[in-house]
Amino acid sequence: MAKSSVQFVPWRQISFWRCYGCGRCCRDYSVVLNFSEWLTITQTFGAQTTVTGMDRFFIKRLADGTCSFLCNHAGNYLCSLQNMKPNACKIWPFKVLAEPKYGQPNDAAFDCAGKRLYIYADSNCSGLRYGPPTWEFSSITVKEFAAIALGFCPTQHSSTRNSNSYGARRF
Ligand code: SF4
Ligand code: SF4
Repeated sequence: MAKSSVQFVPWRQISFWRCYGCGRCCRDYSVVLNFSEWLTITQTFGAQTTVTGMDRFFIKRLADGTCSFLCNHAGNYLCSLQNMKPNACKIWPFKVLAEPKYGQPNDAAFDCAGKRLYIYADSNCSGLRYGPPTWEFSSITVKEFAAIALGFCPTQHSSTRNSNSYGARRF
């Protein structure tokens, strides 16, 4: 996802994260697609659901900026992409990087599958609570986000709002 003027917080300064389904991330951000995600979405829903930029593909946004796949179902926001949800959406509000791009490397470092990663959260997410990480957050949730980013965790549990919601990331 891409947006300017955001502040990134290293994961060790976060107590825990829960998605409250506010839908903000699906209204305020553009979703970048890799080629394979773009191909799957366009073959399933048509090319009109995506936008091609200079060197990247994006999900089409409505006039008010909302992702065209966001649905409001009885007051709850739902992602209608479900099991073909782009990786950028699965990982949000976290950024999993190979370098400590946003500083504070000691607080951002996370070792996963023999790799040293640097994980930050976008403070625009209303589901973040700050403070010393709980055991669940540091041992399960962050690990799952790292594994998704590395490409070996196809199913979401702790990184989604509802573990029984058709594999949805959140909502
Ligand atoms: S991930 Fe954060 S911003 Fe997005 S819907 Fe959940 S609580 Fe809201
Ligand atoms: S989670 Fe779904 S509705 Fe939200 S931005 Fe991603 S694709 Fe769109």
